[in-house]
Amino acid sequence: MTDLLKMTAVEARAALDDKSISAVELTDAYLAAADETQALNAYTEITHDKAREMAAASDGRLAKGEGGALEGLPIGVKDLFCTMGVETTACSNILNGFKPVYESTVTQNLWDDGAVMLGKLNCDEFAMGSANETSARGAVASPWTVDGDDQDYAPGGSSGGSAASVAAHSSIMATGTDTGGSIRQPAAFCGVVGIKPTYGRCSRRGIVAFASSLDQAGPITRDVADGALMLQSMASHDLGDSTSVADPMPNLMAGLEDGIKGMTIGIPSEYTMDGMDSQITALWEEGRKWLEDAGATCVEVSLPHTQYALPTYYIVAPAEASSNLARYDGVKYGQRVEGESLDDMYAKTRAAGFGDEVTRRILIGTYVLSAGYYDAYYLKAQKTRRLIQNDFIDAFKKVDLLLTPTTPSAAFPIGQKVTDPVTMYLNDIFTVPASLAGVPAMSVPAGLADNGLPLGLQLIAPSFHEDTLVKAGRVLEKAAGFTATASRVASRVAGQ
Ligand code: GLN
Repeated sequence: MTDLLKMTAVEARAALDDKSISAVELTDAYLAAADETQALNAYTEITHDKAREMAAASDGRLAKGEGGALEGLPIGVKDLFCTMGVETTACSNILNGFKPVYESTVTQNLWDDGAVMLGKLNCDEFAMGSANETSARGAVASPWTVDGDDQDYAPGGSSGGSAASVAAHSSIMATGTDTGGSIRQPAAFCGVVGIKPTYGRCSRRGIVAFASSLDQAGPITRDVADGALMLQSMASHDLGDSTSVADPMPNLMAGLEDGIKGMTIGIPSEYTMDGMDSQITALWEEGRKWLEDAGATCVEVSLPHTQYALPTYYIVAPAEASSNLARYDGVKYGQRVEGESLDDMYAKTRAAGFGDEVTRRILIGTYVLSAGYYDAYYLKAQKTRRLIQNDFIDAFKKVDLLLTPTTPSAAFPIGQKVTDPVTMYLNDIFTVPASLAGVPAMSVPAGLADNGLPLGLQLIAPSFHEDTLVKAGRVLEKAAGFTATASRVASRVAGQ
């Protein structure tokens, strides 16, 4: 059974085809792993019956030689995706009890390709956070620990449950969403691969909205090939999302092993900050050498407006959030607290339903959109966003890709930053620019810090060049040779 948990999705898919394993067997192994690692709090709900039913149906299709690209692969779903008949709360009390009557386009694409749903995964409330600590379902503990230290470390956020479950081998792959780094940062903290595709590649239909001009779905997986496989299935043109792009996704698996010989990779000089971990700087330098050894040329580039990315994001994202979250009024969805009047009911419902971080964002967003401050903050931020996007457009005239660290440090203990929002926001300093520009980016596990926690490197590509991104990701992954398994589950996965 433990061998089942060791296989990557690509390996398991091949084993399902040659009938050396069955979908039911694989799903049962993952359900048991999800049950046994529940102390991590990665899952908000494990859908045992649904998983077994879907796996049995997959075995039926495989027997007839009809399996889809993800046939029989057991996948965890971030609780931000609407799943028909299965509670979807974005880990907020305001959505308690909400069972969507329809399926998100992305998850429907996965099921149409034969994937099996294991359950819903914990995340920051409405995906607002960098440590999975704002979740109304409680924090997620990283499956990684530090020797001689009994603290729980943050898995990153907001897709903390997704990254933790993939690293803990309690899902073979998981969906994530990324508004300012929520796929890449938890992937880096948990030693797994996370891809944020170009804005518009994956439909937002049926994904609980945070900041609509930034939100993108993407895969969190154990290696780059699995990421390519899963992203291919998640992406589609969808008339149900007006910002969904019609351009077809290139075949990501086809050129995966082609290498990067002859490519030019930019090293942006602005991707540093005070107090940055020297191990990250050293790893970044090593990454540059790995790419050069593979035949690429690395050059310094400048993205001059990088320093404005974080303040711009923390105006644009809360502004959009305050507007998107206006719909939670106690009438249409989830929780309702009765009041003496309609206004009183709204106020009581929202006060009881939203956590502190979400309330903070609604207040900031409402402020920057208000009549007196719109020009000074929101409009200015929109203009700055354009300058940041132009930086990338200019850089990509000279280079094929960019290489940066994913985060300024390795994971931190739970509770260390949650009381200081600005320190928490600084985690996103290297991930937010690509989100504002809408360009695709990925985090690849590239090494371990001295304390044994994973570190990630980020690759950023021009819009619609996910094929180049995964090719280079594969090169980094091979060179880094990252094989460590999260300490909390290593013996379980190895079957000792
Ligand atoms: N950590 C960032 C925030 O709190 C990004 C979150 C995300 O990408 N969903 O907004």
